[in-house]
Amino acid sequence: MERIAVYPGSFDPVTNGHLDIVRRGLKLFDRVVVAILVNPKKQFLFPLEERLDMLRVCLQDFKGAEVDAADGLLVDYAARHGATAILRGLRTLSDYDYEVQMALFNRRLDPRVETVFVVASPEHAATNSGLVKEVSALGRDVSAFVTEPVRVALERAFRRRAGK
Ligand code: ADP
Repeated sequence: MERIAVYPGSFDPVTNGHLDIVRRGLKLFDRVVVAILVNPKKQFLFPLEERLDMLRVCLQDFKGAEVDAADGLLVDYAARHGATAILRGLRTLSDYDYEVQMALFNRRLDPRVETVFVVASPEHAATNSGLVKEVSALGRDVSAFVTEPVRVALERAFRRRAGK
């Protein structure tokens, strides 16, 4: 039987830290479905379609990785896709607090789906999409944290914002 995990997130935008989690997740699972959670209440820099496109480009050489958008309850999405696990990355203590709460809650909603945590690699542990956006908005090069297509998309987005 195929082992399938869902890796949910905002991916606004996808960073090298996210890609590291997918790469390592694929050692544990046959397929990893990277799912952008549709959240109309949250404000994003990149529209959903652009975030999906960036993920597709970054993951094109990752055998077993798929990209999708997901709305509704995550555990229901996982069940629909035959996934037995939710894959998440852990960087800091604050990640831990939030992630454990989500994992316990999802477990109450559907005990058949296990949350599996992969601890961030030291070189990616300080990377998060929010900081990458802040630094890029201030004109700093972010190529240490994201792939080239994402770096270009960030520059374009902030130029657009500045009306240039
Ligand atoms: P969310 O809005 O769900 O937090 P993110 O796109 O910020 O979405 O993160 C998705 C998942 O990836 C989370 O589990 C987060 O902890 C993990 N993650 C984000 N950045 C990194 C990183 N640099 N290294 C490891 N895991 C990460």
